[in-house]
Order: sequence, then structure tokens, then C-alpha cells
Amino acid sequence: MSDAVPRVVIVGGGFGGLAAAKALRKANVEVTLIDRQNHHLFQPLLYQVATSVLSPGQIASPIRGILSKQRNTTVILGEVTGVDIGQRRVFVDSSDRSGVALEYDYLILATGASHSYFGHDEFEPFAPGLKSLADAVSIRNRILQAFEQAEAEEDPRRHRDLLTFVLVGAGPTGVEMAGAMAVLVRQSLRSEFRRIDPTSARIILVDAGKRVLGSFPETLGLAATRRLEKLGVEVRLGHAVDHVDGDGASVAGEHIASKTVIWTAGVAPSPAGKWLRTATDHAGRVRVQPDLTVTGHPEIFVVGDTASLDQDGRPLAGVAQVAMQQGRYAARLIRRRIEGQAALKPFRYFDKGTMAVVGKGFAVLHSGWIDLSGFLAWMAWAAVHLEFLGQSSLRISVFVQWVWLYLTGQRGARLIVNHHGSVTSPPHETEMRDAASKQRRAS
Ligand SMILES: Cc1cc2nc3c(=O)[nH]c(=O)nc-3n(C[C@H](O)[C@H](O)[C@H](O)COP(=O)(O)OP(=O)(O)OC[C@H]3O[C@@H](n4cnc5c(N)ncnc54)[C@H](O)[C@@H]3O)c2cc1C
Repeated sequence: MSDAVPRVVIVGGGFGGLAAAKALRKANVEVTLIDRQNHHLFQPLLYQVATSVLSPGQIASPIRGILSKQRNTTVILGEVTGVDIGQRRVFVDSSDRSGVALEYDYLILATGASHSYFGHDEFEPFAPGLKSLADAVSIRNRILQAFEQAEAEEDPRRHRDLLTFVLVGAGPTGVEMAGAMAVLVRQSLRSEFRRIDPTSARIILVDAGKRVLGSFPETLGLAATRRLEKLGVEVRLGHAVDHVDGDGASVAGEHIASKTVIWTAGVAPSPAGKWLRTATDHAGRVRVQPDLTVTGHPEIFVVGDTASLDQDGRPLAGVAQVAMQQGRYAARLIRRRIEGQAALKPFRYFDKGTMAVVGKGFAVLHSGWIDLSGFLAWMAWAAVHLEFLGQSSLRISVFVQWVWLYLTGQRGARLIVNHHGSVTSPPHETEMRDAASKQRRAS
């Protein structure tokens, strides 16, 4: 060790990184946590921001605030761009400096994952993914804007593509988004427009797989499909999306005209594997040892969505619980090494179960031998998500918002927020045509 007090650098303040930092709060180490965002994000509720149920501040908290009482921890807002394994340094870009070297004795990489368009990156501008708060707000803008455009549009033939929403990927995020959008259009928006009928909006959920929620037992996938169909969602399975552009998506040779395509399908890991120049799995995640370290580097740990580890012959899923348990494990192992105690047994994930919510008051839950769908599962889903929100203020505010939505159908954050400050935006095409036709009528 180069210093009397070992330096632990954690890259990423998501589920894995934050769990590791918290688990080191009583250790005799200097912790530096680096994240390119100033907030910890509760990704499982991102779809609720995208569908106007919650506002961004209800699912994210400043990392600095969460760790404010942890005297041995410094938080740095910056983007890590590489690792020098030999010199034990990471390189950090911040708003006014680039490539600043930061030395470590132990490194925990918890940099999560990003979208994958399965080799079709050209789809991205037309089919945004849902991974960050900015993504969620941008998708919320697009959805609400589509209704506003349709209301302003006098030509009813243009309503169809404006009010058709295509969701690509029928995993938990796609299913939850589709269900929440169905409730949004059929309940919250139904009586607020005069020229259009929001309930006529089409929500199409597309997946190349043969069923929705492929990682859940088949009966729960079927229960979710039935629920989605009851909510008016069109579920199209067995065909991948061939093409996406500004006019819509093509599926199995059919063009679906749509102004709003949302990508909830693929996940690509962060570039940590490239930084470390180490073995990765087919998806690019770093292959870690059973103690979550990188081969030949017992001082480097990789946890969460960036890591690849098999358990009982199957790769661990990219879920929050895996990341949190791995983050805590890495911290405990570092602490034991520093304190000269015996090593831990290999990491073993304890699976508490998985859940997905489908619209209002309905969820599916799989935990051990328990498979449940319906209202009870939804209650369990709500309780677990409130519990894991982490901060009491967020828990209370989200709970109140959910109760309000359940009772009244009113959403808390139906705002279109464009981030161009007070710059006057050019009038929209339809507004211009409206104005022109009014002038013609007047003259
Ligand atoms: C929409 C959505 C819904 C989900 N729903 C569920 C669910 O219901 N249940 C569930 O268990 N899981 C769910 N997940 C998955 C879960 O969120 C992830 O498995 C979990 O976040 C992984 O934790 P992590 O610590 O590996 O990464 P993350 O939580 O993604 O954290 C990574 C952090 O690293 C930071 N970072 C990345 N690169 C850099 C860099 N170069 N420099 C500095 N900082 C960097 C990021 O800003 C981020 O804060 C969902 C994911 C998404 C996207």
C-alpha cells in the first residue's frame, strides 16, 4: 500500500457503487466515489417519470447528500475515461479538466449498463431508450407532445401516426411502460382534449421473443399479456423490429406509422472491460472471479451490470439486488483484507424474487416457489419499491403520489419541459398552418 490509510476508489454511484460505499463507512479507508451524475437514480421507477406519474426529484437523490454523514468518503462529479492498471490510477474528466489521475489501492468498478440497439445504432435518434433521468424526461416530452400536436392538427388523417406509440422490447421495462401508458391515455387524459379522443391511441408492444417477460415463469408472462390486452395494448411477439425511422417502425414487413417509438430492448455494458483489457462475456461484461475480482488483479472488483458471473450454471441477471449484494460483498472483502482477516467464501447471490407491474393495481411476482399475479402482487411490488427508495422523504412523497393517482387518476408531473431556457422556440409546423388557415378564413 502506498499510504497508511488504504485508498478505495469506487466508480459509479448506482446500486452497486453506493452499496459498496455505504458498507465501507466504518472501515479505516479513504473512499472516493466518482460518478458522472450528481445523483443516485432509482431506475426501476424511471418508467413512472416517463409516463408522468412521478417527477424526476422523486426517484433520484444527490449522492453527496446520501453520503454526507460518511466522514471517510469524498464524492467527485466526473467521468472516468480509463484505468492504468500498472500504476493503479483512474483517469477522470470533469467540467473543466480532463484526464486527471486518481490513485487507488483498491478499485471497485460499478458503472452499470447503457442501451444496445443490437448493431442498429442508426435507430437511436428515432427510438430513445430509458436509462437516465434525462431519457425519462425526454420520453415524457415526446409522449405529451404527440397528444398536443394531434390536438392542434386539423387533418384527422395525421392523428393516426401521432397517436400510435410503439414500444420495442417486452421485458419488464417495456411491459411496465406499456401498462402505464395505457392507463395514462385511457384514464388521465381521456376528458382533456376536444379535437382528439386520447383513448383511441394505439400502444403497440413488440418483441422478437415468443412471450412477454421472458425471464419470468410462463404463467406469469401469460397473465401479464392478458392484462396488457385488457388495457388495450397490442402485443406483437415473435418478430424483431427491422427498421426504425422518423415515420415509424417496420415489423415483419409491416410498416407501423408512428411518431413515437421507444426502445426498451437491449442492454450494453459500460466500457470497463476495455479499460481493464480483460476477458468479457459475449455481451461485453467483465468476467469476474467468484470473489468479484478481475483475473490477476485482486485489488480490482467489478460489480453489478458491468460484471458477468455465473451461478448454478446460469449468468446472474442485471438487476438491482445483484448489484447491491455484490457491492456489499466487495466492500466486506476489502475490509477483511485490510484488517488481516480470512477471506470470504465466494460470492453467492440470494434471489429475493422479481416483479413487474402491469397498469393500475396489477403486478406479477416470482419469488422461490411463489408465483403471484394481481392486486396482492401489486401491493407487494409497491411495498418493496418504497422500501428500496432509500430515503424517507422520497418514500413519503412517492407513497402520497401513488395514493393520489390511484384514487383520482391525476398525475403529478404532466409537464413538457424543453431545456432551451427562455429562448423563443420557432412556432411548430401545425401551429403555423393553423395560423395560416385562420388568416385565409379571415381574409
Ligand atoms: C428502466 C429500468 C428499469 C429497471 N427496473 C428494475 C427493476 O424493477 N428491478 C431491478 O432489480 N432492476 C431493475 N433495473 C435494473 C437495475 O436498475 C440495474 O440492474 C442496476 O441499476 C445495476 O446497478 P449498477 O450499480 O450496476 O449500475 P447503475 O445503477 O446503472 O449505476 C451505474 C452508475 O455509474 C455511473 N457511471 C457510468 N459510467 C461512468 C463513468 N465512466 N464515470 C463515472 N460514472 C459512471 C452512472 O452515472 C451510474 O450512476 C432496471 C433498469 C432500467 C434501466
